[in-house]
Amino acid sequence: MTRILLLGGTGDALQIARQLGPEHVYSLAGLGKVPTDLACAVRVGGFGGPKGLADYLRAEGIGLLVDATHPYAAQISANAASACATAGIPCWRVRRSPWQPQADDDWRVVDDWAGIVAALASFHRPLFTLGREALTYLDEVPAHQFWIVRCLDAHAGSARARVMDARGPFTVDGEHRLFDEHRIDVVVSKNSGGKATEAKLKVARALGLPVVMLRRPTLAAVDREFDGPADLLGTLRSELP
Ligand code: NAP
Repeated sequence: MTRILLLGGTGDALQIARQLGPEHVYSLAGLGKVPTDLACAVRVGGFGGPKGLADYLRAEGIGLLVDATHPYAAQISANAASACATAGIPCWRVRRSPWQPQADDDWRVVDDWAGIVAALASFHRPLFTLGREALTYLDEVPAHQFWIVRCLDAHAGSARARVMDARGPFTVDGEHRLFDEHRIDVVVSKNSGGKATEAKLKVARALGLPVVMLRRPTLAAVDREFDGPADLLGTLRSELP
């Protein structure tokens, strides 16, 4: 029996975790909800860098690490690749394909927060959908802007920003209402891929609004990559019955 450590914190990872038996371990950073209805073991919190993770892999007799963290969680993915090399076990990754711009899309692809700020300069009412990152900058909202920040955190906002705690999936109708109500003129997004948060892109396209898209980080090389949970679970069933 090969014991699996699944690194998660995404909907895809949870889907995989639901199929794992009690000998396997699902690991979460501890920022969001911790599921209590899984057959596999659940552990919460960091490992203490790549060395801590390598020590954990050895101590727990892990034979395969599956990294199903978010495509923008680059640190834990780097730690996973390095720790697996140290421990001498394979590192597999599950990553949703990125969204691709369509003919009517106006994407402005940027590399970092400075790029986001520059790309937003001529707009007034951006919708931020990056997660909690924008909360760090609420004191820096330019005088001509009012920000709508959607993330998983409850936050009072400020005179120049409204923070909405909301968890996907989001619908096209719901996003239309949100854009109308807040007179959104630009969307700020990660290229997360998948269906759950794609509606904002469809609405931006329909309304002719630009999307400031934060580029995906380049991740460390791994032994095998899978497009989604079904792809990975199929391989686990056939190769690790
Ligand atoms: P990160 O910057 O890549 O990782 C920061 C540190 O958090 C890691 O070095 C590790 O601590 C710990 N960590 C991260 N994921 C972990 C996991 N699954 N199990 C145990 N420890 C973990 O990660 P992040 O971008 O802050 O994301 C944190 C978590 O939220 C990830 O699990 C990710 O899947 C999820 N998430 C992230 C995003 C996003 O946009 N970044 C969006 C949705 C969900 P140690 O070094 O101490 O081991």
